[in-house]
Amino acid sequence: MRNLLLSSLALATLAGAANADVNIYTTRQPELIQPVMDAFTAETGIKVNLAFVSEGIVERLKAEGRRSPADLVMTVDIANLQQIVDAGVIQPVHSEVLDSAIPAELRSPEGLWFALTTRARIVYASKDRVADGEVTTYEDLADPKWQGRICTRSGLHDYNLALVAALIAHDGEEAARTWAEGVKANLARKPEGNDRSQVKAIWAGECDISLGNTYYMGEMLADPEQMAWADSVRIVFPTFADGGTHVNVSGVAMTEAAPNHDDALRLMEFLVSPAAQAIYAQVNNEYPVVAGAPLSDLVQSWGSFTPDTIDLTTVAGHRADALRIMEEVNFDG
Ligand code: FE
Repeated sequence: MRNLLLSSLALATLAGAANADVNIYTTRQPELIQPVMDAFTAETGIKVNLAFVSEGIVERLKAEGRRSPADLVMTVDIANLQQIVDAGVIQPVHSEVLDSAIPAELRSPEGLWFALTTRARIVYASKDRVADGEVTTYEDLADPKWQGRICTRSGLHDYNLALVAALIAHDGEEAARTWAEGVKANLARKPEGNDRSQVKAIWAGECDISLGNTYYMGEMLADPEQMAWADSVRIVFPTFADGGTHVNVSGVAMTEAAPNHDDALRLMEFLVSPAAQAIYAQVNNEYPVVAGAPLSDLVQSWGSFTPDTIDLTTVAGHRADALRIMEEVNFDG
């Protein structure tokens, strides 16, 4: 009900928007996006209207078709970006600025989506019970030495499915299935809660390591109740045995309708300027996609890592197989 209400409000807002504005549907919390939009408006005089659409963004865009007031869609996770592209509601964008700013593995080869920030899926490790160097690869999480020591959210969540999909891309389907069985056998408890709940469980002594996205460290440190959870762990950047650390993205795509195409493109190009990248990445403690854009002090304090270079379109292509594997091994059961 709350979502419905928000959606109708969002629609009403966009329907009343002036033609010259850029209209965005976003699944991201508006407060994460507003600061960088304010910077764009200050520089160009072009107003940006954000409509927060928490669910059903694909259905909305399909229903509106070419009459959609939305120019751009902003969301997180390659699965969501790919789903929007696959729905046929996106138009390709060809821009020298975007192509030269964003590494090839972080954008669609056809210009259908572009990553704006990345987040690594890492291991939160107990400061007290996990030694330096004890975790080095994702593959290692299936080792029996972790028996009863791992916590994670649902294996069917987008974040974990992207990780398994990337594992399939690296090691093949059979190895990914064996891995999923091995990690399940090592779980301290059935998957439940979100990424931060797992860090809380480490703090409470229920497990020693968990899988989580990097920016949640920032969110926990900003919350008085969760600060102690964050203080009980450190971030470890595992890699695939033959690759780097798994990253996922937040990104942007241009709708097929895009009534304000030129200004929307101008905004997309602004979003990969170093200044905009710094603002956007810092608000949510993510990593900029543009080389040389500054990290927040907190993100910098986690140290550097080598991102995996398997392109995310390939990862998205293995998602269905990843889901099937996690269901077949009954990961959450
Ligand atoms: Fe998240």
